[in-house]
Amino acid sequence: MKLVTFTDTAGTRIGIAVDDGIIDLKKADPDLPRDMIGLMIAWPTAHAAAQRAATRKADMPLSAVKLEAPVPRPGKVLAIGLNYADHIAESGQKTPEEQVWFAKMPTSINPPFADVQLPKASHLLDYEAELVVVIGKKCKHVPKDKAHEVIFGYATGNDVTARDWQFKTPQWILGKSFDTHAPFGPWIMTPDEVGDPHTLGIRAFVNGEKRQDSNTKNLVFNIFDQIAHISKAMTLEPGDIIFTGTPGGVGAAMKPPKFLKAGDVTRIEIDKIGAIEATIRPEP
Ligand code: ZN
Repeated sequence: MKLVTFTDTAGTRIGIAVDDGIIDLKKADPDLPRDMIGLMIAWPTAHAAAQRAATRKADMPLSAVKLEAPVPRPGKVLAIGLNYADHIAESGQKTPEEQVWFAKMPTSINPPFADVQLPKASHLLDYEAELVVVIGKKCKHVPKDKAHEVIFGYATGNDVTARDWQFKTPQWILGKSFDTHAPFGPWIMTPDEVGDPHTLGIRAFVNGEKRQDSNTKNLVFNIFDQIAHISKAMTLEPGDIIFTGTPGGVGAAMKPPKFLKAGDVTRIEIDKIGAIEATIRPEP
């Protein structure tokens, strides 16, 4: 199932993306929650109704709506650094023994096809193709072999980064948290459709030129390791999202470096899940 948050003239709500468009869950079943986190919380009982709804015909074509980030305001946006061998090498770092975690602020969330801002305060803007994990259950101290049980689904993300701000100080949080710098989507694909999340091709393009081309099998700390580790420290809640690391090929590591400029178009795609796209525009 591909679950979307979308907006049209009747407002913002949730639906299911199917081949011929979008099934409006409010129309399909008025008793279902209207927002994605509500749906996740209700999922143990709501999933049967959602599955029934998924067999309906689309209520509208995809072109008739604006897709929002599937979770427009996550409680937490967590991200792991240095988590693909080729990216660690191009960054001139050593493979970390400990998982390197940072956060992106929830205000950095952006819809899957919306413009991304070239900030007034940064000129070294970069992309990072990443598999995004969406947490579906409140949990703590999740054992690695049970981590799959707390995953609601997967999405495609771009961990957009202001490299100058990232490396001005030892903490990366500002360089990772500029407005619009956490686009993800285009939907949440449920785990039954994704299958093994550690066999997915992942690619980034800038103006059609392939810059990153890897596979989630190359993650240093896999998704289940990540959930086991961070849930030792903090309670994870429905709607929290995790950026799981980027492979080699970021603009900062090119020789010479190639940073994003106004008018550039980034495209991030992950096998099975889908692609997101953004045009880079100067911050208004
Ligand atoms: Zn990243």
